[in-house]
Amino acid sequence: MKLYLAVFALLAAVHCEEQFNGDQVLRIQAESESHTEVLKELKKNVDWELDFWTHGFSTERPVDIRVPNTSLCAVKDFLRENNISFTVMINNVQELLDKERAEMVNNEGMERETKSFVFAAYHNLETIYAFMDTLVASHPNLISKVNIGSSYENRPMYALKFSTGGVSRPAIWVDAGIHAREWVTQASAVWIANKIASDYGVDPSVTSLLGQMDIYLMIVTNPDGYAFTHTNNRMWRKTRSVNLGSSCRGADPNRNWDAGFGGTGASKDPCSDSYHGPYANSEVEVKNVVDLIKGHGNFKSFISIHSYSQLLMYPYGYTCADIPDQSELHAVGTAAIKELTSLYNTRYQVGSICNIIYTASGGSIDWTYNIGIKYSFAFELRDTGYYGFLLPANQIIPTAEETWLGLKYIMGYVRDHPY
Ligand SMILES: [Zn+2]
Repeated sequence: MKLYLAVFALLAAVHCEEQFNGDQVLRIQAESESHTEVLKELKKNVDWELDFWTHGFSTERPVDIRVPNTSLCAVKDFLRENNISFTVMINNVQELLDKERAEMVNNEGMERETKSFVFAAYHNLETIYAFMDTLVASHPNLISKVNIGSSYENRPMYALKFSTGGVSRPAIWVDAGIHAREWVTQASAVWIANKIASDYGVDPSVTSLLGQMDIYLMIVTNPDGYAFTHTNNRMWRKTRSVNLGSSCRGADPNRNWDAGFGGTGASKDPCSDSYHGPYANSEVEVKNVVDLIKGHGNFKSFISIHSYSQLLMYPYGYTCADIPDQSELHAVGTAAIKELTSLYNTRYQVGSICNIIYTASGGSIDWTYNIGIKYSFAFELRDTGYYGFLLPANQIIPTAEETWLGLKYIMGYVRDHPY
């Protein structure tokens, strides 16, 4: 263990990896409108370098903020002065990160020794890409790797295409990891890719689905951001594009789609974690997916996987107005969650993005819905705020298993309701 820590310290020094010693994540509960106003003011304070893990402010839902060690006293005093109650959700962020890293290093050694992939572990981009190659090689008649373009830093972006033939069959899109730090999403997508491959020809539902439709699964939708979470800053969310006139990098790739772009719930500030970018589709990672979807022209469902909060959402995010298909999508979502919950009793909420969490403009599923992809959904996976983005690796498989049940329900419904 000592050796691992020494190696880790060395790597950290080489990469100038961001440290979070003594940082805490506070869970704050607004009890009145005046509290939410105070929290909005708090968000404007740039001196305290707060990292909001949740977005939007309401009395319905807690606000989770990572507070740097140096700002802790000031922030806690501020909350007490305003009679706003809070709890400490994570006592020392760096402690969890060290544990996460040690587990990864340990696992890498084990995988080298056994030459097998461990699904209950987090992996870097290279390892996930190597896993994809292995999976494609072992299922050449079912899976192919589609390069949809390159990221800002010139990394290839791969979708796994599950197809049993046909030309431009109706298809279902699933993506994970558009927000870099939501590690359980990429890890779950890896497990799900393997699950689809091994269930084809075994599970009648998967077999009949792939007899009629294709599935595109993009495991790492923000490869630059994901690589950066491994080398420099585990808390990174955005892309890594350079912003003209600012020293802050990146835009929020889920505020960058051409649906209500630049509206409420996105920031104009390049330093903000919800910066929408200079214009819609400015982020090449978003543009690549948009081009693939448009070029294909026959997607019937688009499902985007995020964490955390345990929610299954449908459009819209940029307005709280109901979509024409509200009642159908609500029913599908509710039934999908019933399946998901049946495995480990993990509780989810279902609703439109705007109604269930907050107004958020420029989101992917609003755009896909508006171009006619009716079955557009977004998941927020585990947990509800015990570990947040730092979900321990031993929860990867249970999370993936239950999510798969929800996904499979939606996919089956899409298959049985052609339009
Ligand atoms: Zn997200």
